[in-house]
Amino acid sequence: MGKDKMSNWGFPASGIFLAAGPCSAESEEQVLTTAKALSGQGVDFLRAGIWKPRTRPGSFEGVGLKGLGWLDRARSETGMKIGTEVAEPSHVEACLEYGLDVLWVGARTTTNPFSVQAIADALRGTDVPVFVKNPMSADIGLWIGAIERLANAGLTKLGAIHRGVSSSLEMRYRNAPAWKMPIEFMRRMPDVPILCDPSHICGRSDLIATIAQEAMDLLFDGLMVEVHPDPPSALSDAAQQLTPEQFISMVGKLELSSEQSDSSVFMNRMSELREDVDALDSQVLELIGKRMDIVREMGRLKTEQKVSTLQPHRWQEILDDRVKRGAGLELSEDFVLQVMQSIHEEAIRKQEADRLDD
Ligand code: PEP
Ligand code: MN
Repeated sequence: MGKDKMSNWGFPASGIFLAAGPCSAESEEQVLTTAKALSGQGVDFLRAGIWKPRTRPGSFEGVGLKGLGWLDRARSETGMKIGTEVAEPSHVEACLEYGLDVLWVGARTTTNPFSVQAIADALRGTDVPVFVKNPMSADIGLWIGAIERLANAGLTKLGAIHRGVSSSLEMRYRNAPAWKMPIEFMRRMPDVPILCDPSHICGRSDLIATIAQEAMDLLFDGLMVEVHPDPPSALSDAAQQLTPEQFISMVGKLELSSEQSDSSVFMNRMSELREDVDALDSQVLELIGKRMDIVREMGRLKTEQKVSTLQPHRWQEILDDRVKRGAGLELSEDFVLQVMQSIHEEAIRKQEADRLDD
């Protein structure tokens, strides 16, 4: 939690790691206004997209190279560090020329190992901090693989950004939060800092504070948030950008939790466990259903052969065997007997009902 994992990255040590700024750099004035409003507010770097990877052609595709000049000016006027998204080697080269302080690889690029490798090759020999956003789909292998490609190119300041995953289901969010993916990422890459991007998860500015808080409760190391001086007029992602004032107030209200016995961590863990229990219960019911189907087939055979429904010897063998298996799973004899008796009772009832139907 916080910046422990980035202690040699050259950022102030206190607080959570914060990246904030417009989805896209749109004009020099917009970049400077945003930077001035955010400087001195604990923001670790000013973000702005220069080359925008758009899902559909024809949307605003970014201002290109000249935007780097605007970011550079924002840096010299405010002292803020600056960062942008790179999607191909030419972007990397331009950013290195301008001495950008941070780069990130966007979700659409992480999806493609060829692109990631080309970016890694272009970065070889440098040690600029690079964040990798998760791919569009919930494929953790691509996410970790991208970080490995950059690490193999010699980069040591590598972080991750969780921005949710696309879903065909109708939902509240633009991208499903899919928390189990970053949670699994944290388990597999415990030394890699991870930010949450609530803007791209939510797609709507009114939901951002809740997701940002949830990320803090899940021990993310920081946030990347889209901030625009006039969100309604933004050329990209207008609905999800906060004003600088909204951003500052949201950050001020975040409750930071620690790993030990914090009740919101507890609540999140509990909801994860409940999901697991729900999934197991439905498996248990499905298995019982399958067992019933087999039992009914046996009932039909018994009817044909005029054999009794109740088979006392077989029933005794089942009970002895299941009680023994249950003991190996730390399930008490009483409990196993009760479960098996209920199942057996229902099986007999079904066999009898089928017999009467004939
Ligand atoms: C962005 O950060 O503006 C962006 C395009 O995000 P993503 O790659 O997560 O879609
Ligand atoms: Mn955006």
